[in-house]
Amino acid sequence: MRRPLVAGNWKMNGTCASVGELTLSLNEVALPESVDVVVLPPYIYIDRVVSVLANSLIGVGAQNCSVKPGFGALTGEISAAQLKDIGCDWVLVGHSERRIELGESDELVAEKVRVVLDSGLRPIICVGEELSERQSGRTLEIVKRQLDAVMRIVGVESLGEAVFAYEPVWAIGSGLSATPEQAQEVHAAIRARLAENSKELAEKARILYGGSVKPENALELFGMADIDGGLIGGASLKVNDFSAICRAAGN
Ligand code: PEP
Repeated sequence: MRRPLVAGNWKMNGTCASVGELTLSLNEVALPESVDVVVLPPYIYIDRVVSVLANSLIGVGAQNCSVKPGFGALTGEISAAQLKDIGCDWVLVGHSERRIELGESDELVAEKVRVVLDSGLRPIICVGEELSERQSGRTLEIVKRQLDAVMRIVGVESLGEAVFAYEPVWAIGSGLSATPEQAQEVHAAIRARLAENSKELAEKARILYGGSVKPENALELFGMADIDGGLIGGASLKVNDFSAICRAAGN
C-alpha cells in the first residue's frame, strides 16, 4: 500500500505578504494524517515557509535546483546542498515549464535528479506529453523516453526515494484535466516501465497526477489504481482548495 502524497507547486507566485498568509493558514488547517503533504514555494520564500511550518507535518521543497552539486562559482544558481541546508526535503525536477520554456533536456533533468538524491533530498520527477504529441498518439513514447533517461543516467537502484509525477502539458493551468481513465493509462504505463527495470521500485514508487486538479475532480482521479496523489499548481495557492484535495487523497 503506497502512502498518498500531495505536493503544491506555488510556481513564480506570491509576495512576502501573500506567502506569509498562505503559510499561516496551512499551518492551521486540518490535513489528513494518512497523506504526505509538501509545498514548493519560490526559492526566496522557502526559508520563511520552513520556519512557519517547523512544527507541522507539511514538508517543504524547491521547484528546481542547479545541476552542479555542492557549493561554488555558478552565479545565480541554487544548489541542492543549499536547499538541504535551509531545511528542504524535496526538489521538483523536470517540470514541463522548465523543459519547454527553459530548454531543459531529458539528460539535464536526469542529472539534476542524481544531484538531488546525492544531496540527501527527494526528487519529484515530472514527465508528460504536449498536446500535439497526444494528438499524434505519441503519449506513451514521450513519457517512456523521459523516464528512461532518468533510469539510464541515475540507475534504478538509486531511485528508491524518488516520486514521479505524470503531468500532461495540455492539462497544466488550462482547466482541462485528463480524465481519470486517460491519467490511469499513463500511470500504469509508467509503473510497467519501472517494473521492466525493477519490480521492487515499481511497486513502491508513488506516481502523482498533475494538471488542473481541483477539489471537484480530485477524488475520482485519486481513486484510480496507479494514481498515488497529486501535484497541484493553481489550486495549491488557495488553502481551502488545497486542503480539500489533500483530504480527497486520504479517502
Ligand atoms: C503544475 O504546474 O504542476 C500544475 C499541475 O498546475 P495546475 O494544477 O495549475 O494545472
